[in-house]
Amino acid sequence: MDIKPVLKCMDAFQGFIIPYNRYKEKPMSFEFHSKLPSPSEIREGYPLSDEMKALKAKRDKEISDIITGKSDKFLLIIGPCSADNEDSVCDYVSRLSRVAEEVSERVMVVPRVYTNKPRTTGEGYKGLFSQPDPEKKPDFLAGLIAMRKMHIRAIAESGLTAADEMLYPENWGYVEDILSYVAIGARSVEDQQHRMVVSGFDVASGMKNPTSGDFAIMLNSVYAAQQAHSFVYRGFEVKTSGNPLAHTVLRGSVNKYGRSLPNYHYEDLSTLLALYNERDIVNPACIIDANHNNSNKDYMQQIRIVKEVLHSRRLNPDIRNLVKGVMVESYIEEGCQKIGDGVYGKSITDPCLGWEDSKKLIYDIAELV
Ligand code: PEP
Ligand code: MN
Repeated sequence: MDIKPVLKCMDAFQGFIIPYNRYKEKPMSFEFHSKLPSPSEIREGYPLSDEMKALKAKRDKEISDIITGKSDKFLLIIGPCSADNEDSVCDYVSRLSRVAEEVSERVMVVPRVYTNKPRTTGEGYKGLFSQPDPEKKPDFLAGLIAMRKMHIRAIAESGLTAADEMLYPENWGYVEDILSYVAIGARSVEDQQHRMVVSGFDVASGMKNPTSGDFAIMLNSVYAAQQAHSFVYRGFEVKTSGNPLAHTVLRGSVNKYGRSLPNYHYEDLSTLLALYNERDIVNPACIIDANHNNSNKDYMQQIRIVKEVLHSRRLNPDIRNLVKGVMVESYIEEGCQKIGDGVYGKSITDPCLGWEDSKKLIYDIAELV
């Protein structure tokens, strides 16, 4: 194909943009700085050992069996809101692995190693990928490497493969061989590209309810992710197979007055079950995120919320089948701090449960499930 006419047209467009920007006296445009390495280049530079590959395959299968109902273990996705510091995250994940081992008969523990943070207003710390050092400016090459290194070190030291949010779907290739669970966040779940990209993932993927709380948007998203799609991805035409492990995550919502509305109660779970039954979705499954608008970020409430969910499961076998697990925000120190306060193992985004309470909660879950 002769692309000269296309280039000419782009030149004409640039010719319009530049005077327009001058007129506004503020440059409004993209500046292309540097080209980042491709996913395969980064994967080759920071590879997984054969042992880690086998571990991931085993854990992916265990999670898949929970989502499809072959296993009745309870899934616990637990860890900091943001994985901001390699040393404290690996320390946390290693502590977690010792407890995970003790409860492994009944509970499957997946650490949250979240390297990309969605922001409500677009301001603030956007995760390790954007800012490998939260106190410094964005550095995406260093961020890509830091993200990969942190995940690999966490697996090596804990024997646990992790969950992360796929905030930027084009970044999947950088971590596709590492993650055992993927979440699509409340602010991304209505987006077509996110849904289509999830349809090509080979791991369990949780689609959160949007911040508005609309169950239909969440279920449409699960349906979309379960179908095969053709689309453009990283400059390629691609086809996906559909992801039967896509499922819902309830994280509470915000009403028009800015108040948090929880959605973990028995009635919410019954409603979700009824809505699942009306739709052509395979593997009906739900994870309850106990923090965010379910706890109104009152992190200690996560303990009560998880126990209430376990209680609802005991009351109704259909709810038991639907609710496959919970998500908890937890770190070494409880609460949160401002960037720069420098407390080791304390969240710089959402407030988290501290380690001792988290450990106790994990034992309680194993007892009550
Ligand atoms: C999170 O899991 O930390 C998060 C930002 O979730 P949500 O998309 O539900 O707000
Ligand atoms: Mn959070």
